[in-house]
Order: sequence, then C-alpha cells, then structure tokens
Amino acid sequence: MTITILGSGTSQGVPVIGCECDVCKSPDSRNKRLRTSILIESGDTTICVDAGPDFRQQMLRENVKHLDAILITHHHKDHIGGLDDVRSFNFLQHFSMPVYASSVSQEEIKREFSYAFAEKDKLYPGAPTFNMIDIIDDKPIVINDLTIEPIRLKHLEMLCYGFRIGNFAYITDFNYISDESFDKLKGVEFLIIEALRREKHYSHLCLSEAIDIAQRLNVKKAWFTHIGHQMGRFEETGKTLPENLQLAYDGLKIEV
Ligand SMILES: [Zn+2]
Ligand SMILES: [Zn+2]
Ligand SMILES: [Zn+2]
Repeated sequence: MTITILGSGTSQGVPVIGCECDVCKSPDSRNKRLRTSILIESGDTTICVDAGPDFRQQMLRENVKHLDAILITHHHKDHIGGLDDVRSFNFLQHFSMPVYASSVSQEEIKREFSYAFAEKDKLYPGAPTFNMIDIIDDKPIVINDLTIEPIRLKHLEMLCYGFRIGNFAYITDFNYISDESFDKLKGVEFLIIEALRREKHYSHLCLSEAIDIAQRLNVKKAWFTHIGHQMGRFEETGKTLPENLQLAYDGLKIEV
C-alpha cells in the first residue's frame, strides 16, 4: 500500500496569506503545505482522506485519474471545501462518489453543498453527485481490498474520525483520544498524526503531545501533519526530532 501526502498544512495552509515569516518566505518546497489530506493506493484501489480546498490541485499534481471513495475525518472547511471538484470524477467514472462520513458531518456537507443534494428533477445539471455512507463505530469500512477501521477522536467538541488500515493509521484534528480509541491503535507500525505547532492548542495536538502518542504506541515511524507555519522550517525543525518521528511534507510517499 502506498500513502501519498497530498497536503500537510493546517487550515490556512503554508505560506499563510500576507505572512513575512521565514517559513512562509522559504523557497524550500517542503515548507509549502497544502491543506491536510492523504491518498491511499492499494492494488487497483485508490481512495483519499478528506477533500479540502486544495483537492483539485492535489489530484492534478498526483495525476489521479480514478478515485474509488473519499473518507471524511470531519466537516471543517479545510477538510471538505473541495468536494465540488468531485464532478471531474463523476464525469470520468460515471458513478456518484462514495463519501464516508459521520452523520453529523453528512448534515454539514448537505447544507454546504445543498445544490448537489436537491431532488433529482431539481438537480442543477453538472452538479457533483455523492453516495453518502455512514461511518459507524466498530464497523470496518470495506472498499475493494481495503478494510478500514474508524477511530473516534475528539476535536474540541466535534467528533472527528481517524482511520486504521492494518499496520498503518492516520489521525488528525483532535485534542483528545479516549483509552478505547487508543487501544484500537495498538500494534500500528506506521502513523501519520497531526502536530500543529510547538505551543499547546485548544483543539489540535501540539508537537510534544503528538510525539507522546507516537512513542506510547511504540511505532516504527511517524510523520507529523496539519502543520502551521509556527512549527518552523522543515529542515531546522527536523534536526530537533528523533530520526523515526519526522515532519511530513507535501508529495511524500510512504510504503506500508
Ligand atoms: Zn483541519
Ligand atoms: Zn508565516
Ligand atoms: Zn478541524
């Protein structure tokens, strides 16, 4: 299975509009972060987690021509803002895109993209079409050869889902994980986990909290994502971290 980091930036992305800091001004491509998302490819199956405002650009950059499904972690705009561009896949594939989301996130997606959920005779021609599917705790999601276990996380007061596939897990946008959810991550060897910045934050993990979770899980390797410009430049920050716990960057490919 190949995981591609489509985006590794926090909600504003990096560089931040109007910011003159040395991260935002860096010419190193690893300091340019689109909104957080990953692509998962296994055999003939290709899925992505979230479709934020940079979805179109990410699909073009990685030359994605087929997408079997989209998993939604939660309904903040940096994770769903690009769902309109699913149209291209509707046209190519001639089916409604399966979108897996919690019932709360589905409500928000239906409100946000109401034109795509109108009655059939009132549907605007060319609107994207979705096949919305519930994510249910303890019920694995099966997409072709992939079996995906949802992991419940708490993002301030919002439910957010992480996902585990075999020895790999992806967990972003949370500040609290229950013991029950933590247990579901045991045995994971490769982890992508959010780390917004060094300072503590009310709804996101900071770097030390993310390191703590990765170390308690005793993973072989972890990559940090959903990174803000306050984290510092890729190269300098990387040197301060243990070798097996590193910042992700856009375009990084991971074989698991
Ligand atoms: Zn986010
Ligand atoms: Zn900046
Ligand atoms: Zn969020």
